[in-house]
Amino acid sequence: MKFLGDYHTHTVASDGQSTLEENVRAAKAAGLEEIVVSDHGFWSILANMTAKKFEREQAFIRGEKDVRVLQGIESNLLNTAGDIDTPDEYIRRLDVLTVGFHRYVKPRFMFSKFIFTNGFCSTRAKRALVSVNTDAYVRALDKYPVDIVAHLNHKAPVNARPIFDKARETGAYVELNAKHLDAFLPLLQDAVESGVNFIVGSDAHKARDIGKFDEIEKFIVDNKIPRERVFGIDGNKPTFKDKTNWRRNV
Ligand SMILES: [Zn+2]
Ligand SMILES: [Zn+2]
Repeated sequence: MKFLGDYHTHTVASDGQSTLEENVRAAKAAGLEEIVVSDHGFWSILANMTAKKFEREQAFIRGEKDVRVLQGIESNLLNTAGDIDTPDEYIRRLDVLTVGFHRYVKPRFMFSKFIFTNGFCSTRAKRALVSVNTDAYVRALDKYPVDIVAHLNHKAPVNARPIFDKARETGAYVELNAKHLDAFLPLLQDAVESGVNFIVGSDAHKARDIGKFDEIEKFIVDNKIPRERVFGIDGNKPTFKDKTNWRRNV
C-alpha cells in the first residue's frame, strides 16, 4: 500500500511538539507528497489557533516547495447546533476544514452538557447523548464546507449511519485516524455500506509520527475496506472543497 499524504498533523502552534518545518522534513523522508497541517481550533483551551499563528502558517505554506502543505484547522464541534470554532473568514481561507469532538475547549463550552458529559462522564451517561451527538455532526456537515470528519466515535458516541449518509451527500471524507481506530471499528460496517469515502491521518503530534500508517494499513486489509474508497493511498489523491466564496445559508 503506497501512502501519498498525511491528512492530519499537528505542530507547536497547537499541542504538537515539532515545528511545521520539522514535520515537512519528516514527510519528505517518509516519501509523502503532501500533508495537511491541522492544528486545533480557535476556542481550544490550551494552544488554540490565533490570527497570528494562522498568518505564520499561511506564509510558511506559500514558501514551501519540497512537500505540498495544505492548511487545515481541526475545528472543535462546540454544541448540539453543530457550531464549530473556526470563524467564517478563516474557513474561506482554508484548504482543508476538519471537524472533531474535543473536550478541552473554552469554559463557556466545556461546562455545557454536550462537552462535559461526552468529555468527562461515564459511558452510561454518554450513551444517553448518542442521538444528540449524531445530530450535532449532521448539522455541522450541513452548515459548513467540512472536508474531513476526524476520529468519529472517540469520546462522543454516535449513531454513525446518518453522519455517513450526510458526509457522502456533502462530499466529506471520514477519517481513518491512526490513533483512534478502536473507536471507529464499531462504525465500520455502516461506513462501508453507506458508500462514504475515507481518508488517512496519523494525527501526529511529533514529526517522527508523520506518515506512520502501519496500523491503518493493517486495519484496511484486515477489515477489507474497499481500497478505491480510501483517499491518500494507491494514487487516490483527495480533493478538498474550494471555500473561497463560501457563505452561510442561514
Ligand atoms: Zn482530534
Ligand atoms: Zn488531531
